[in-house]
Amino acid sequence: MLRKIIIAGLAVLIVACTTVPITGRRQLSLVSASQMMALASEQYQTTLRQSNLSDDRTQIRRLDRVGDRIIQSVEQYLTDIGQSQLTEGYNWEVNLIEDDEVINAWAMPGGKIAFYTGIMKLFETDDEVAVVMAHEIAHAIAGHGGERMSQMLVAQLGGVALDVALTDKPEETRTLAQVAYGLGSQIGILLPFSRTHETEADELGVYFMTMAGYDPQASVNFWEKMAAMGGGAPPEFLSTHPSSQTRINDLNRLIPVAREKFGD
Ligand SMILES: [Zn+2]
Repeated sequence: MLRKIIIAGLAVLIVACTTVPITGRRQLSLVSASQMMALASEQYQTTLRQSNLSDDRTQIRRLDRVGDRIIQSVEQYLTDIGQSQLTEGYNWEVNLIEDDEVINAWAMPGGKIAFYTGIMKLFETDDEVAVVMAHEIAHAIAGHGGERMSQMLVAQLGGVALDVALTDKPEETRTLAQVAYGLGSQIGILLPFSRTHETEADELGVYFMTMAGYDPQASVNFWEKMAAMGGGAPPEFLSTHPSSQTRINDLNRLIPVAREKFGD
């Protein structure tokens, strides 16, 4: 009997898994991509409406330029390896939110990205913009929002599928989605991405920026600059790492790999 239950449980988990490109990590996926994107799109529009969007044309053009170049390269790469379905239905969008105090950027499922003016002041070159842009694009492509949503459905609603949860508990589900997408701070819960997600977004990010022709060395330079700032509330990409030194060591190890595999 016990064995039967275990086998049934395993079957559910196997069915409900997807694989992250390049790293090959298996992830829990109780939520379909189209459901995630529909929810994310709604949350994204709400967030933008409640925010003060920047009208700094130079910085907006800069984000568009870097974003377009990385997205194009990554989509080409996914097509080349026969994985173009990973970004099917994505509607990439990058917006700049006016808030000089917030040194942050985030990405939601379906390619909805936002930067804050606070982080723009730290960028000296397009290569440095590419470090953060590629990291955020990596979160979106690796489906981290969906994985976190799945983990929260398991923890809080007993692992029901999203469509069931939406029908039975629409309010709770929307709150879960906000937290899963990293918008939890607006409703008083801040759940940082796990270390696994951050490390994976760092790794994929270095590959993605290299594919697009940016200098991966800028990743080390940028994180060293961030680490040197110290103090204040850490941005999401610093918050779940054991130390900036570990992150910098990891990146130093990955840069030659990125150049070898994805450089010109
Ligand atoms: Zn991150």
